Amino acid sequence: MDTNSSLRALPSVDQLLRSELAVAAIERFGRPAVTEVLRDTVADLRRKVLQGHPIQASEIILDNLVASLEERQRTTLRPLYNLTGTVLHTNLGRALLAETAIDAAVAAMRSAVSLEYDLDSGKRGERDDHLRALICELTGAENATVVNNNAAAVLLVLNSLAAGKEAIVSRGELIEIGGAFRMPDIMARAGARLVEVGTTNRTHKSDYANALGPDAGLILKVHTSNYRIEGFTKEVKPQELKDIAHKGAVPLVHDLGSGTLTDLTRFGLAHEPTVREAIDEGADIVTFSGDKLLGGPQAGFIVGRKDLIQAINKNPMKRALRVDKIRMAALEATLKLYRDPERLSQRLPTMRLLSRSREEIGAQAQRLAPIVAKAVQGAFNVAVVDCASQIGSGALPLATVPSAGLALTVIDGGGRALEELSAALRRLPVPVIGHIERGSLVLDLRCLEDEAAFAANIAGLDMRAGQAGGNSQS
Ligand SMILES: *Cc1c(COP(=O)(O)O)cnc(C)c1O
Repeated sequence: MDTNSSLRALPSVDQLLRSELAVAAIERFGRPAVTEVLRDTVADLRRKVLQGHPIQASEIILDNLVASLEERQRTTLRPLYNLTGTVLHTNLGRALLAETAIDAAVAAMRSAVSLEYDLDSGKRGERDDHLRALICELTGAENATVVNNNAAAVLLVLNSLAAGKEAIVSRGELIEIGGAFRMPDIMARAGARLVEVGTTNRTHKSDYANALGPDAGLILKVHTSNYRIEGFTKEVKPQELKDIAHKGAVPLVHDLGSGTLTDLTRFGLAHEPTVREAIDEGADIVTFSGDKLLGGPQAGFIVGRKDLIQAINKNPMKRALRVDKIRMAALEATLKLYRDPERLSQRLPTMRLLSRSREEIGAQAQRLAPIVAKAVQGAFNVAVVDCASQIGSGALPLATVPSAGLALTVIDGGGRALEELSAALRRLPVPVIGHIERGSLVLDLRCLEDEAAFAANIAGLDMRAGQAGGNSQS
């Protein structure tokens, strides 16, 4: 056949659309998607024919159709196994929600809700009313409000209380949290003038006191949650800072970062300042995250003095930073779990995962080692190893929790073998994310709860490169 007759022999998009397979595909994926994929396919075949390739039978074209449509349909925001050893991994979505929080969120999604409606009076209500009493009960604060995340909380507090004024911060606390959240930049955007006091390692009471002038708007204390300065250091305690702030008639704001509502030593972890402690120490305002140690959905809490929270709520920016009904519902359910701290380690996934013992995880690693060894088909050595899990998201940066996992090492040579293994694990129906450490791919099993599902998933491991996306190989 010459090229022209080959081109004429190509099926048309219309012909293909009438086939039984295409009709079934339209049922599943909709006509526009099927038409688009077929159009691309035919255009592609046309190019190939022009390059001298033989034409494909319609059956093959249609066989590939469903695979392409499934690939297009697949979401990019996918559930996965977080075996990185970092429990609150920002890139992997931080806290997993408690079942009661999931149920509450689903109910709020399905139905109209009394978000800003007072069922007693039949009048307009306030969004914050649903959480205010609960947060105050758990933290000892007078008043509270909730916004999109803790970055928003800090921005809103600075803008509400220190726009056009000075915000005084120790040089040792001018943190960057990653993802472009740098305290000096947030200050600038909030319209506050940053006044740095002290030095990187030492800040004294007099540094703050000397900086307090007529233009002062607030003193900000930042919990340096993602690093520690050690050695010859001095920081001013919140209790002392409160007196200095109040002498200058400005509020003391404490950005706790992670913040927790319960004493973590209960779960065998190091002590992380609780929100109640920060309030008791005299902070007028405390800000903290909802999806770090608290174990809820993404949110930022602002708690503290009644009049200051009222001022913050009057800021028009609040409207731009508020949270929706779905998160509100999940937050309420999460916070309620804190009324029974004894049972948090069963009910709240973050605490449940953090409090799993080295022994329990080690036993799990022993059970899974042969299953993973079978999946890698002798290409890697699989050993049970000790791991040191991290909390993540900047909480207790130096603290690690003893854990266990599997270390996969290359049996013979192959420089890129570990990267290829990582890639193959990412291609699984439920991707598995570990980390490479000293020549091994390590899977820390602290966050693995459903062992049977994991075993079934990893049995599908396919080391052949370029198999991405479940495309059929024809
Ligand atoms: C994490 C953190 C923030 C930002 O909180 P997000 O909830 O991630 O927006 C702000 N300040 C400190 C000290 C933090 O640790």
